[in-house]
Amino acid sequence: MTKVLLTGGSGFIAAHVLETLLQRGHSVVTTVRSQAKADKIHEAHPHIAKDRLETVIVPDIAVEGAFDEVVKTPGLEAVLHTASPFHFNTTNPKKDLIDPAVLGTTGILKAISRSAPSVKRVVITSSFAAILDRTKTNDPGTTYTEASWNPVAIDEVENDAVNAYRASKTLAEKAAWDYLSSASPNFDLVTVNPPMVFGPVVHYLATLDAINTSNQRFVALVQGAWKKQEQEGKGIPDSGFGLWIDVRDVALAHVLAMEKPELSGKRLFTAAGWIVNRETLDIVRKNFPELKDQLPSEEAEGGAAPPEDKRFKFDNSATAKALGFEWTKAEKTTVDTVKSLIPFLN
Ligand code: NDP
Repeated sequence: MTKVLLTGGSGFIAAHVLETLLQRGHSVVTTVRSQAKADKIHEAHPHIAKDRLETVIVPDIAVEGAFDEVVKTPGLEAVLHTASPFHFNTTNPKKDLIDPAVLGTTGILKAISRSAPSVKRVVITSSFAAILDRTKTNDPGTTYTEASWNPVAIDEVENDAVNAYRASKTLAEKAAWDYLSSASPNFDLVTVNPPMVFGPVVHYLATLDAINTSNQRFVALVQGAWKKQEQEGKGIPDSGFGLWIDVRDVALAHVLAMEKPELSGKRLFTAAGWIVNRETLDIVRKNFPELKDQLPSEEAEGGAAPPEDKRFKFDNSATAKALGFEWTKAEKTTVDTVKSLIPFLN
């Protein structure tokens, strides 16, 4: 049993990390931005004793010293830092995306170094965004691995929110590894670098409008947006093609990253394969006949994968071997995701 600090416990991925930690017998202190979010977490875990699940309010991770108090919680042995903005809704990417990502990361590492000598392992949720090079997404000659780095520089960010998000993850992860080599702290580091993460919603969600960014495509599908697009003559969306992973695999990867000493210093490139909208639609059509009226017709065009000579390659076999479990298949992820959304429809 390990006593863990988990940042951003109200988030999509973090809620699954929290479940996995509790299932595996760990005790957790998790940070959230408000008391209302803390209350929802305790309501979701009514049978977990207060000393195994504590919540602490950290309103803004970008503020200097944000984590200084919470890291003083007695007995902390590991920190899982997931909190970081993931949205494209900004006109000021530096303030809204880059600063919380980078300052949140360096802030927590410095706070642990200063005040939490019992912490031996830090796991940071990075991203495939810190791996891919956006100029090479159609390049079949590029193979991404755990060793690949996004070459983005801060001055390229300007007002492109997608690129700014990718830069935020790249710069935050780089800052973390740089801190490890320059400050030689008492703890070591593992990063988890997932591409698009899909899966059932287990965190508190007031309405589907508040869905996390990576699950938005499933909401669009079940609310009829793909059908509308077909009716406008555009077919099933082709956009969003890329690599994906199930959220429960990402959660388990975080917890194994914390538990396994031999993962010290690794980047875990957790990716199950390619997401293809046509396949998603076929799975939903087969498993949810009650959603028929919201879905595009059987004849709808589009949503196919680009040919192999128009896409990059990836090799994450080192991660798969190090973690030692099978990635969840697209059918299970899709079915479980849609099941979790259905109660919010109407
Ligand atoms: P969510 O938006 O659900 O979670 C983000 C979390 O970070 C929330 O708890 C959010 O709090 C918190 N947060 C954001 N900004 C701040 C801030 N300034 N101060 C305090 N807390 C903040 O997204 P995900 O669960 O998808 O993302 C979790 C992590 O996983 C992020 O680091 C993201 O970059 C990474 N990731 C996600 C992928 C995906 O496809 N989902 C893919 C690869 C990496 P609140 O909800 O209260 O705003």
